[in-house]
Amino acid sequence: MENVLKLQDVTHVYVNASGTTLAVERLSLAVAKGEFVSLVGPSGCGKTTVLSLLAGLILPTEGIVSVGGEKILKPSPKIGYMLQQDYLLPWRTILSNVLLGLEISGSQTPEAVDYARSLLEQLGLGGMERRMPHELSGGMRQRAALVRTLATRPDVLLLDEPFSALDLQIKLQLEDLVQTTLRRLSKTAVLVTHDLGEAAAMSDRVFVLGANPGHVSAVFDMPESISGLLPTEARKLPEFQERFEEIWQALEQASGKGGET
Ligand code: ADP
Repeated sequence: MENVLKLQDVTHVYVNASGTTLAVERLSLAVAKGEFVSLVGPSGCGKTTVLSLLAGLILPTEGIVSVGGEKILKPSPKIGYMLQQDYLLPWRTILSNVLLGLEISGSQTPEAVDYARSLLEQLGLGGMERRMPHELSGGMRQRAALVRTLATRPDVLLLDEPFSALDLQIKLQLEDLVQTTLRRLSKTAVLVTHDLGEAAAMSDRVFVLGANPGHVSAVFDMPESISGLLPTEARKLPEFQERFEEIWQALEQASGKGGET
């Protein structure tokens, strides 16, 4: 299958006033078009660094980071980034928040606005266009943030702990909704999460990273019998528990202890 995202032998060293930090060393991974992958691993293993490299926010010290065969040298509209906090502007309505990316990139055509409205509809926010962010629940705000990210039609979505601030029930509902939406729109996605269950239930593949310096420690292909189901359904299967246990053990090994993530 065609790889849309690629890190080839990537090393990244942060340099600042207090010295240098080797964050990741000779890290390689590739993500196929339409694939949903997760990165899990102990704190400091380079998950955020990998997302920042893919987002074009930092450049690798060595190695190549590419999207669609082109080197990533700066942030690109092909790649959308969604964070734990929704960063909705409190003084703008939901619709005008959702249109922000289009406005900034000068691509707010009537077609693009129609598309954003249809995304709001698809994510259950059809009646919320004129509401202000403070009038929405946390789950609704995250859905609005997802619409804002999708409105500019990126090929790839980077998801950095997007559900971790939400109550469990809302988080589980959103996992289902986000997975279904990204599949339907054929998006490629990279999720960083400390929740192994979330990674295993949502992904086609799970990368376990190890630290000091960051590297790929293990990769798990999720079988179609799990990845083909909604995350809430997948979690109920006995084979899901087995996979979860395997990934957990790999994470413990990568952490060199009882698995703080
Ligand atoms: P994770 O997201 O897995 O917790 P990070 O990518 O944030 O890991 O960090 C990887 C390593 O790089 C850690 O040792 C961290 O302290 C270091 N690091 C991250 N960001 C910076 C930075 N801006 N300056 C210096 N060191 C950094």
